[in-house]
Amino acid sequence: MKKEQKIETALSHHGENRADYAGAVVPPIFQNSLFTYESWDAISEAFDKRAESYIYSRGNNPTVRIAQEKIAKLAGGEQAILFGSGMAAISATVLHCVQKDGHIIAIKNLYGPANNLIFSYLKEKMNISVTFVGGKEVAEFETAIQPNTDLIYLESPSSGVFSLQDIPAVAKLAKQHGIKTMIDNSWSTPFFQKPLAMGIDFEVHSCSKYIGGHSDIVAGVVIGSKELLGKMFRREYEWIGGRIAPMDAWLITRSLRTLPIRMKAHEKSAMSVATYLENHPKVEKVNYPGLRSFDQYQLGQRQMTGYTGLLSFRLKTTDLTQVKAFFNGLNLFKIGVSWGGHESLIYALAISYIKELTPEQFAATGLAYGDMRISIGLEHTEDLIGDLEQALELIM
Ligand SMILES: *Cc1c(COP(=O)(O)O)cnc(C)c1O
Repeated sequence: MKKEQKIETALSHHGENRADYAGAVVPPIFQNSLFTYESWDAISEAFDKRAESYIYSRGNNPTVRIAQEKIAKLAGGEQAILFGSGMAAISATVLHCVQKDGHIIAIKNLYGPANNLIFSYLKEKMNISVTFVGGKEVAEFETAIQPNTDLIYLESPSSGVFSLQDIPAVAKLAKQHGIKTMIDNSWSTPFFQKPLAMGIDFEVHSCSKYIGGHSDIVAGVVIGSKELLGKMFRREYEWIGGRIAPMDAWLITRSLRTLPIRMKAHEKSAMSVATYLENHPKVEKVNYPGLRSFDQYQLGQRQMTGYTGLLSFRLKTTDLTQVKAFFNGLNLFKIGVSWGGHESLIYALAISYIKELTPEQFAATGLAYGDMRISIGLEHTEDLIGDLEQALELIM
């Protein structure tokens, strides 16, 4: 029997049939909206097999398919569908799972726009209610189940506060009750965490983060069984139309070839930075699932095979002027939202909250001015620590 290829090898070659395009080592970008046929019978036959056929690029496109096949392989799923953004993948998946007057159980601290979609928008439009749970205990999900619960929505680790859910246990509970499950796996990537093998129905990602990895695309993906995704393809994918552009799919194929080595580099560097910060006298606390001091370290060890480059920490100072001196004093870490790219970034969680909340309301969120989120890029670790060191010295 032929040995199954290792994932690094598959990401280089799987899904590519170079004989179809003159042996080119990199596939071409099929930048076309439609595909033409020889006859009435030929196009009619294509319609009979529309899930596989190339008819119109809102459905299938050869460049998109290559990236989809690689991601499905990586995640251990039967099928992957790429979308024009992570939110397009998320909204299509949620809409696929819910019914009018239904109910969703989701974790608190869900990615902001996803939270707004399920909590305000779907309530307004379809009378769908949501129960938010902390999610650290499986019993919280069990208690929240109602007769009309359609979906359990996880994000583990969550990208704001890094809390984990016991993925196999929640998947098992949901199956017992006939409830669909989805997980936002953007933080871990399918390289470090395989939710489908743990019983989850739909795995979604923002490919704008690590899967893209170069901060040059906005895209998303959902991965799952042929049965579930086949239905979604004909409905939420083709009808809502949030498809990915061939150029962006081509960039994802480029990115997937280096995903394993990038992730190992992000992990190694982030672990060093987290350890450095944890031992720094001006730092109160570091939140990073890879640290032994992380409260759910054991659970993380059970369900993830590695840790990525996004972490947060709290400065000891509570003085906003001092916090800003540190924040503005960084040179290498760029100020910006998002994460998962080659470049290191910093963002202060308070920036948006300060505009919306009074100081008392802000204190009630449990956040502090000195809460910093950093994305560790692919620069040399010594340079990154050096930059943090000089900026921390600016705090009096
Ligand atoms: C960025 C992000 C998304 C949304 O993805 P887009 O590609 O920006 O639409 C979803 N979930 C998480 C955890 C994210 O960080």
